[in-house]
Amino acid sequence: MSATHIPNTASATGEDNPFKDSPAKGLICRACQTTYGLVAQHACWNCFGPLEVDYDLAKLAKVTREDIEAGPQNQWRYAPLLPCGVEESDRVTLNPGLTPLIEADNLAKALGMRKLWVKDDSANPTHSFKDRVVSTALTAAVKLGFNRFACASTGNLANSVAAHAARAGFPSVVFIPHDLEPGKVITTAVYGGSLVSVEGSYDDVNRLCSELTETDDFEKTAFVNVNIRPYYAEGSKTLGYEVAEQLGWRLPEQVVVPMASGELLTKIHKAFEESVEIGLVPEAKVKVYGAQSAGCSPIATAFAADTDEITPVKPKGIAKSLNIGDPAAGPYAIESVRASGGDMAAVNDDEIREGMRLLASTTGVFPETAGGVVVATLRKLLEAGSLDPQAETVIYNTGDGLKTLDAVSSLVGPTHNVKPSLKSAKEAGLLES
Ligand SMILES: *Cc1c(COP(=O)(O)O)cnc(C)c1O
Ligand SMILES: [Zn+2]
Repeated sequence: MSATHIPNTASATGEDNPFKDSPAKGLICRACQTTYGLVAQHACWNCFGPLEVDYDLAKLAKVTREDIEAGPQNQWRYAPLLPCGVEESDRVTLNPGLTPLIEADNLAKALGMRKLWVKDDSANPTHSFKDRVVSTALTAAVKLGFNRFACASTGNLANSVAAHAARAGFPSVVFIPHDLEPGKVITTAVYGGSLVSVEGSYDDVNRLCSELTETDDFEKTAFVNVNIRPYYAEGSKTLGYEVAEQLGWRLPEQVVVPMASGELLTKIHKAFEESVEIGLVPEAKVKVYGAQSAGCSPIATAFAADTDEITPVKPKGIAKSLNIGDPAAGPYAIESVRASGGDMAAVNDDEIREGMRLLASTTGVFPETAGGVVVATLRKLLEAGSLDPQAETVIYNTGDGLKTLDAVSSLVGPTHNVKPSLKSAKEAGLLES
C-alpha cells in the first residue's frame, strides 16, 4: 500500500545533499513509489523497479523564463530544473544544447503537412543528443564520489562518455557490442580511454556492465546508464524545455521521438508536462509519437498489442543506435504515449534509408539511421491517419549521418562522371547549347 521512505546516509533533505541548490529532493521508485536519498542507485530495493529523480515542485515553480533566458547558451540554462546543482565550476561537460530548431517547410510540403520543425541534435559536440544525458550524469557522478566514467553503449553514448572523460581528465571504460558501425568505433577510440568490444548484443553488454558494477574493482566507476541512470535520464528533459523556449515559450501539438530504451521519449513528455505545471508555457497537450525500427520494435509492438508487457527481442537492422531488445523504460514510454493520445510505429531498413535521404534533401540536415527512423515513422503515421497533417509538429533528429555512412552509401553517389573538358560536360548532359 503506502510508499515507504528508506533513509540513506546521503539523504537529500539532510546536510549531506551532494547537489547544492538542486530542486531534487531524492529518488523515487517508478513502480512502488518508495523514496530514497540522492544516491547512486538505479533499482528499488523493494520491487526492483527503476528509480527516478523526485523534485520539490515548489522549488521548480520558482524558476522563471527570465532566469532561464539569462543563463548560458547551452543546456545548463535549464540547470535549475535538473538534479545535479547549478554551480558552473563543478560541471563535467562539453556544454551541449541549444541546438537548432529548423523550420522544415520543404519537408512539410513533401509530406502534405502545414507546419513542421526539425530539432537537430546532431549539432551537439559529439554529434548526438547523448551529450545532454552524459553531461548531466557525470556532473552528478563526480559529486557522488565516482572517479572513473563508463557506459554500456549502442554507439553514440560511447562517443560522448569518452569525450567527456577526455575533457575532464578522468579515465573511462566504454563497453560496446562488437558489430557497431566503424564510424562509431573510431569516433570513440580517438578520445583515448578503454574501449571494450563485447561479443554479444547491446543487451549482453548491458548485463555485463550491471555485473561489473557489483565488483570491488568497479565500485568507484560511474556507468552513466546503469548505476547512476536516474541522473542520466533527466538530461533528456532539456530536449523538451528547449523546444518550448525556441517556439517562444509554447508547446507544439505533436512530436515524433525515436526510442531505444524509451527513456528519451518519456523524459521529453515529462518536460512538457512540467513546463505547463510550473508556468513556463500556457496549458497545452502535446501528442507524443514513438518511432522504432522494425528490426527492433519491442516497444511499438507492445503498444500495438495494447499491453505494457514488453517481450524482449533479438535486435536486427541498420538502426543500431536504437537496437535495445529489452528496453528499460519501455513500459513508461507506452504510458506517456497513451496518456498523450499519440501513437507508435516501426519502419523497415529501406524506409529508414529513404527517410535519411528525404530529410537531407529537404532540410540540409543529414541524419543518422535514428533520424531516418523518425522521418519514415512520421510518414507512416501520416498515411495511417493517426498523426494530423494540420497540427504543428516537431520531429527529433538525435544523431549525425556522418557516423552511419554505410546505411546510405549504396543509395547515393556522383550523379555525373565527366572528364575535365567542356566537351565531356556537354556529353554528360550538363550543357544544353
Ligand atoms: C540513444 C539514442 C536514442 C534513444 O535513446 P533512449 O533514451 O534509450 O530511448 C535515440 N537516438 C539516438 C541517435 C541515440 O543514440
Ligand atoms: Zn519499488
